[in-house]
Order: sequence, then structure tokens, then C-alpha cells
Amino acid sequence: MAKIKINKDRCKGCYLCVVNCPQGLIKVSQELNVKGIKPAVFSASRKCTGCGMCALICPDRGIIIYR
Ligand code: SF4
Ligand code: SF4
Repeated sequence: MAKIKINKDRCKGCYLCVVNCPQGLIKVSQELNVKGIKPAVFSASRKCTGCGMCALICPDRGIIIYR
């Protein structure tokens, strides 16, 4: 089972990962990070395929994939 880790304080809230996860597993947090924006958060799920799309598309390299 794959999973991802999002560095919430590095996240700038572009939400490219949110709209591009084929499984819809990344959501917008309700809490603010150190930049004062709502970061992306992983909805821990067995559906994560480890495809890497989220990490690839993040402009700030804020996502790490664990396969
Ligand atoms: S793509 Fe990166 S910077 Fe953009 S919302 Fe996702 S984690 Fe944050
Ligand atoms: S690795 Fe793929 S399936 Fe898993 S959260 Fe990222 S985009 Fe979604």
C-alpha cells in the first residue's frame, strides 16, 4: 500500500495536487499553516496507488511518496 506525506508548512495552497490526484485523495485542510493558508492534506486511504502525480505536479516539492 502506497502513501504520501505532505509538508504542510511548505505548501502554498495552489491545490494542483488536489485537482490532479486520480483517486481524489488530497483535500484542503481547515487549519492554517505557518504561511497563513490552508494547506493540502492527504486523506489516508488504501486507494493511493503511489502513481506519483501529486509529487510530480507540486511546484514546491512538498510531497513525498512512500511505495
Ligand atoms: S501542489 Fe504542493 S504547494 Fe500546491 S497545494 Fe499541493 S502540496 Fe501545496
Ligand atoms: S500518489 Fe497518486 S493516488 Fe496517491 S495521493 Fe498522489 S496522486 Fe493520489
